[in-house]
Amino acid sequence: MTKTYGDCVYCGDEANSIDHIPAQSRRWYLEGKYEFLEVEACMDCNLMLSNKSYNTLYERKRFILQRLEERAREMKVRGTWTTDEIMKIEGHLRTQAMTDRANYEDLCNRLIYARYTTNEVREI
Ligand SMILES: [Zn+2]
Repeated sequence: MTKTYGDCVYCGDEANSIDHIPAQSRRWYLEGKYEFLEVEACMDCNLMLSNKSYNTLYERKRFILQRLEERAREMKVRGTWTTDEIMKIEGHLRTQAMTDRANYEDLCNRLIYARYTTNEVREI
């Protein structure tokens, strides 16, 4: 039976993996120092976190927020085509422009979620 997931705790996208907090590879020497959590995450966020040394949900959410902000800055130039602009170009370039815009819009939605929810999580 396939396990079903909810939303990624970091970006709100569809989750398809479990993120371990702290990273599983680091838990052996963090026993007792941090609360061990398992949260649902999309593969993209999970891979960005990998075995990084962020040991709390808040630290991990801050890291993902920062990475999504960086990506948004990188993608903004290509992701903000207007429909009029897209209709003036043809063929492969039009397809590429539409893809870039859709990817940028997805990223912006993830970023909005990350901004909103990261501010709700505070270090205890
Ligand atoms: Zn995610």
